Amino acid sequence: MNMSLTRIRSTVIVGVVVSVTALGAQTVITPPKNNYTPAQDVELGRQAAAEVEQQLPILHDDEVTSSVASLGQRLVDAIPQELRHPEFRYSFKVVNVREINAFALPGGPMYLNRGMIEAAKTEGEAAGVMAHEMSHVALRHGTAQATKATKYEIGTLLGAVVGSIIGGNVGSAVAQGTQFGLGTAFLRFSREDERQADLLGSHIMARAGYDPRDMANMFKTIEKQGGPGGPQWLSDHPNPGDRYEYITREAQMLEVHNPVHDTRAFTQAQARLRGMAPAPTTEDATRNGAARRGPAPVPDGRPSGGPSGAIAPPSSTYTAYTEGNLFRVSVPSNWRELPGSGAVTFAPDGAYGNTSGQGSFTHGVEIGVARNETHDLRTASDELVSTLARSNPNLSRPSSYDRTQIGGRQGLHTALSNGSNASGQQERIAVFTMLLGDGNLFYALGVAPRDRFPDYESAFRRVIGSIEIVR
Ligand SMILES: [Zn+2]
Repeated sequence: MNMSLTRIRSTVIVGVVVSVTALGAQTVITPPKNNYTPAQDVELGRQAAAEVEQQLPILHDDEVTSSVASLGQRLVDAIPQELRHPEFRYSFKVVNVREINAFALPGGPMYLNRGMIEAAKTEGEAAGVMAHEMSHVALRHGTAQATKATKYEIGTLLGAVVGSIIGGNVGSAVAQGTQFGLGTAFLRFSREDERQADLLGSHIMARAGYDPRDMANMFKTIEKQGGPGGPQWLSDHPNPGDRYEYITREAQMLEVHNPVHDTRAFTQAQARLRGMAPAPTTEDATRNGAARRGPAPVPDGRPSGGPSGAIAPPSSTYTAYTEGNLFRVSVPSNWRELPGSGAVTFAPDGAYGNTSGQGSFTHGVEIGVARNETHDLRTASDELVSTLARSNPNLSRPSSYDRTQIGGRQGLHTALSNGSNASGQQERIAVFTMLLGDGNLFYALGVAPRDRFPDYESAFRRVIGSIEIVR
């Protein structure tokens, strides 16, 4: 898909006089520690944006795009001086999908789902979610999270971003496993990041002549969105707990007279969107995109796809691998190593495909690390399964876990069933989890068709038994 050049028209706001009086007590925000340079933010964001635009349908409508872009520019102009990075280029595109979501990449590219723009009750609400996203970019939270991530995660950071946005869903059952390690490292923020983005977002809104309370209102609009697993936006941007209260308190420090709640340009853009054919779901949009591109070849040139007729059983000899200074593992010698986005997969020939950068496999093991803040193995394991379930609606939930050992540490094991999105085939998934010293969740997912699972289960046990944590 070609990049679209958006013609930006300025929106003239007539008859609104805005004056901002800072009362002096607004919260001071210090960006977190970051080992990356702003130029690296720009480069990572640029690469991720190219991938995003290949996978998500960008809406090409001058009127809508220019209205959103001028709203965005108004906010950009209100970013406090000390948080401006000359390298950054903020840009605003509308994604033609229905979920209420938005995300911004390091260095400035921002994507707003059509569903989000349609759901905003006012321009102020749309400005609220945009000011919040923009604050993550200005405070460089994406690369600050990456600074905290393990070396293993960093190597595969980029793919993770896209996996996290798209939610996998092309290919087979557990392709989504790949999103944990890296998506979490890049687009899922800590609660402290969230508090900072809320507060800086409030400052930007006030300086741009909006009412910061509209940001809190937008979060309530998002919360009301139902669906399995709840809104994606909230799992990427966890509520620190008292979000509405502190945004309201901050707003009182940032007195704005005659704030803008709506403009004609924005309400016209909304009316135009509502007049279009309904936006598809992200899942449908990305599935269609994958179909248009056709199956991508796997590394040896064999066509990708679901399980072929004859997949060799796990070899009884094993081969050892060392992964990113994080762990060593031995797997059946007839399984191939498939470094993926955020995790590594080992699978036999014919059991994997590679569609748009997301590895998918029907037999084998995926091993990765998922960022987690809870420091509780059971809770972290449940969160992993919930993340998987968001894009695998037929995935069963664990009724219980057994204790097990992974790399000499206490771990948990459970088995789930799933109807593969791709083939409709029933499969079983063995889930093994363990907390690393830094609190993140180490996981292994063994996948096999239900009728072959008993043959594979002992191989999974042997693979898990071989894991040694190196760091
Ligand atoms: Zn956030």
